Amino acid sequence: SVMPATLSAISNSAKNGILAKGGVHLENLASIQAIVFDKTGTLTNGTPIVTNQLFAEHVNKTRIIQMVYTMEKHSNHPLAKALITWCEQEYNVETLSLNNVTHVDGLGVKTMVDGEEWRIGNAIFVGKEKAEDFCQHLQNIAACSHVFVAKDEQIIAMFTLQDTIREDSRNAIHELKALGIEPIMLTGDNENTARAIANQLGIDHYKANCLPTDKVNEINKLKQKYKNIAMTGDGMNDAPALATANVGIAMGTGSEVAIETADVILIKNELSKIIRTIHLSKKMNRIIK
Ligand code: ADP
Ligand code: MG
Repeated sequence: SVMPATLSAISNSAKNGILAKGGVHLENLASIQAIVFDKTGTLTNGTPIVTNQLFAEHVNKTRIIQMVYTMEKHSNHPLAKALITWCEQEYNVETLSLNNVTHVDGLGVKTMVDGEEWRIGNAIFVGKEKAEDFCQHLQNIAACSHVFVAKDEQIIAMFTLQDTIREDSRNAIHELKALGIEPIMLTGDNENTARAIANQLGIDHYKANCLPTDKVNEINKLKQKYKNIAMTGDGMNDAPALATANVGIAMGTGSEVAIETADVILIKNELSKIIRTIHLSKKMNRIIK
């Protein structure tokens, strides 16, 4: 039977903007020593915009734009959405009929068309060295995400995208640290963007270029160091990590899989509600025990 104190804690936290799938998750949240955050869509708004584009010489730009537009429609990654919006705003773009586009979690999208292999995604997906060569003469692109377009293993275009930090991220990190809870960021994005965001937020520990499985491995490692840890994420790619942590926290506007997998949901994406809930849960634990 549900204890009245538990029920009232769940309903109080729901009123406060946090949906817990059981009292035990609130209890666990109250005793976390570390909290892991995904970057895109969790600490940031996840609505990046395209800030720059670079094409290789002698390429068919129209074709590239059409491929980007069509292939990214098969992904629901925030970067995909940004590229689709940009294509629509900048070009009179048409959707091609491609029926074998696959989304590779944490890397990008790929397809085979007319005997050509197309890949759109991060540096790891198209080859780190080639990616570095392609943008070596560019300056001031440090703190942004890069999306590369490769055809038959040749990089033919690159886009830079800039995201914005959520309004309450910095404050939430500050308050967590004040409570003695260690914030950690794990991101699939590149090192430069990761460092810039971590610095702006006051996060001392972060890891860039994480595949979904890397996030799980990191959490398993952290579990040996900390008794109780939480993971906060929004993407389909965060689901395994959400399931691995002692408490999985999903953003309300996150993917369905993330919400299904998590123990706790931030209904309106308000990170600061985590701190309120920790305080409420500590109070609840005192009442129950
Ligand atoms: P995070 O949310 O921490 O940025 P993700 O695992 O969602 O991590 O993404 C990792 C990286 O994979 C992104 O930063 C991006 O570079 C690349 N990526 C994933 N999906 C796409 C896509 N549809 N188009 C382009 N790049 C993508
Ligand atoms: Mg994300």
